[in-house]
Amino acid sequence: MGAYCKGCGVMLQNERKDQIGYVPTLDAIYCQRCFKIRNYGDVVFSMQQGIESNKTFSKINEIDAIVFWIVDLFAFESSLIPKLNQKLPGKDIIMVLTKRDLLPKTLSIEKISSFVQERLAQENIKVKDILLCSDLLKQSAEAIQSIEFLEQAIDYYRQDKDVIFMGMANVGKSTILNLLNQNKVLTTSCNPGTTLDLIPIVQDGYTIYDTPGIENGHSVLTYLSNKDLKTVIPVKTIRPFVSQIFEDQSFAAAGLARLDIKVKGKASVVAYFSRSVSIHRGKLENADSLWQNHLNGMLSPCLDTSLLTMHTYHSKMKGDKMDIVIHGFGWFCVSGAIEEISVKVHKGIYVTFRKAMI
Ligand code: GDP
Repeated sequence: MGAYCKGCGVMLQNERKDQIGYVPTLDAIYCQRCFKIRNYGDVVFSMQQGIESNKTFSKINEIDAIVFWIVDLFAFESSLIPKLNQKLPGKDIIMVLTKRDLLPKTLSIEKISSFVQERLAQENIKVKDILLCSDLLKQSAEAIQSIEFLEQAIDYYRQDKDVIFMGMANVGKSTILNLLNQNKVLTTSCNPGTTLDLIPIVQDGYTIYDTPGIENGHSVLTYLSNKDLKTVIPVKTIRPFVSQIFEDQSFAAAGLARLDIKVKGKASVVAYFSRSVSIHRGKLENADSLWQNHLNGMLSPCLDTSLLTMHTYHSKMKGDKMDIVIHGFGWFCVSGAIEEISVKVHKGIYVTFRKAMI
């Protein structure tokens, strides 16, 4: 019989590094995930070992509760859960938006709100309310106010039900729960049952359930090492990288995505990625050789992205200003006289073409 992790109780295995319970050697006591949390307090590690979403949804559906769904505004597309209402039949859902501080300050609340409502309508996702949090990492008056507002929303919407917090991995769910429960036992530590199961946090007269971060097999983040996650996940407000182009051009975002643009006049490309991600611009005709010669060097971090293992998405220009979102990574916003757009990403990574957010 196999051994179990002393931290979270999963069965230990040393065959699949990307799966739950992985240990480098089978005599380990803790799975790699719990080991890292215990030793390095590694909060982003859960990206690589998300929980299969169906299991989480069936657990949520067993409880009579209102759902607070946490969504990262920067990683908006990879935080969305397709067919959410069908997955949670009969459940009221409140959407909570996080990491507003990563977007430019000039982006107004009204613009964020209409962007989010339009995207939800396009995805046919119905929520009862949308709440926007300020930067929760700063001990600011706005952050305190966001949490107070969230508490009021819980009281208002829950009626006599319990409350469930859910969302994709890395959206900021634990941060919110920790702030909501500052005087209670926290869920980010790795005690038996934590994060791999629903964790009850008993409140005055009801229970908040924390759920495991849902895995997202279509996000770049799921496949990166911890070191590379630190490069790719932004921690400061995004500084847009603006380019005017007059001829066919190619843009490499590290070694993780490549945008090729054919123009019929003047166009503009704005890149929204973490400040630590370098963007390389060059002539389209040189793009293949640049990619092949510099992948894993100048174009880092990268996945196993030789041109053979990449998938190409094609699009024409739609509307005046269009975002090309590489799930979990960032996006390019394009406008002007564009003839044709193609995006190369590692197979399995999703790309969304949407009306510009900013
Ligand atoms: P979880 O996986 O959904 O539980 O997410 P965490 O709460 O562990 O947060 C994931 C990462 O996002 C951590 O590095 C947090 O420090 C960061 N984070 C959480 N809230 C915010 C926020 O409001 N602004 C920014 N910039 N980062 C945040």
